[in-house]
Amino acid sequence: MLELEDALARILSTMPTPAAETAALGEADGRVLSETIHSPLALPSFDNSSMDGYAVRAADVLSAKADAPVHLRLAGRLPAGQTFTGALESGSCIRVFTGSPLPRSADAVVMQEDTRVEPGRLDEVLVLDAVRPGENVRLLGEDIKAEATLAVAGDVLTPGAVSLLAAAGLARVRVGRVPVVGLLATGSELRELGQGLGPGQIYESNRVGISALVSRAGARPILFPLVADELADTRRALEEAFRECDIVVTSGGVSVGEMDFVKRAFEESGGELQFWKVAIKPGRPFVFGRRQEKFLFGLPGNPVSAHVTFLLLVRPALLRWQGATDVSLPSHPGVLAEALVNPGGRRHFMRVKVDRGGKVHSAGAQASHLLTSLASANGMVDVPSQTTLSQGATVPVLSW
Ligand code: AMP
Ligand code: MG
Repeated sequence: MLELEDALARILSTMPTPAAETAALGEADGRVLSETIHSPLALPSFDNSSMDGYAVRAADVLSAKADAPVHLRLAGRLPAGQTFTGALESGSCIRVFTGSPLPRSADAVVMQEDTRVEPGRLDEVLVLDAVRPGENVRLLGEDIKAEATLAVAGDVLTPGAVSLLAAAGLARVRVGRVPVVGLLATGSELRELGQGLGPGQIYESNRVGISALVSRAGARPILFPLVADELADTRRALEEAFRECDIVVTSGGVSVGEMDFVKRAFEESGGELQFWKVAIKPGRPFVFGRRQEKFLFGLPGNPVSAHVTFLLLVRPALLRWQGATDVSLPSHPGVLAEALVNPGGRRHFMRVKVDRGGKVHSAGAQASHLLTSLASANGMVDVPSQTTLSQGATVPVLSW
């Protein structure tokens, strides 16, 4: 049985070289960048005002105080988006707004609140406070210099990164192609939502949940019809899914029972099993297989096991397939509000709930068929075998 890290390393090293495509920036959030981008512009690309006020020469208003204002001649008005052709003469000022380019020879902006204009003297501004050179000025290149790196190949684009690229004028970016992920659920006991349940039957619940996780990993899920526990049906379903998809994720039918047909059906359809079973709880009976440049992930049927193995082993693969560098789940330290106990021989990824204060609580009973504790969990803690993590201990909490 493989350790989790070994299983993950084998999966990641098997992922193909990512294919790139062009995406409009507005569609690029969550996509994986496949090029490193250098800024064609400095940002800001010109010195400009950070306030509504008056552009001045700081030396002119050194002595300005509320009870001894400095009088400046108002030499012009410069809204954002316009430019001032001349230079600012000593003893004068120019009306500016947030984002107005700083006129030549001005070196500071007095904010409007520190000025007064007397009725009947509209060509003159009284400055009530001194400013330092550079005060209320946003400097050319202070955010980023021209040619500096804006984003690196392998980054997953965020709303903030997309805004930065837009500010630099990029309309399109090269991103990793999105894998199409087919989702199959095996089990003759399973029924579609909306159908009636006969005796011994249950509603199929893995495809919708896993489909949501696939989307969150930036990939495109396709749900396939339910698959009965029959070798021929399983094989046919796999072949059809592999025709349409880059990656197929199944649930159920990968255990040791004689009704578990996924491994055999996959091999009979031309697939090559890479490994089976990973030393984690929940989720030991996990299958990874390869079929030319396509991949099978066989998740256990128990809903919690399916989620956990997806998060630990399939999500990283989907991200790496798109070219992402960092494929691990986000991890943040949390303080245990109660002990987490794992008396078993496999490391246990326990569902937890982190409260607003950062305290980590068990999300409830941990058996792998119990969905309420999955629904209320917002994290997992990796508890090593035969280990108690004590109340008050600081532990890494994985989230998704
Ligand atoms: P299996 O891995 O096929 O042995 O299934 C393990 C347990 O998970 C059994 O109780 C199944 O009924 C249940 N199960 C398997 N697949 C699903 C599914 N797609 N939705 C809900 N329960 C499932
Ligand atoms: Mg089954």
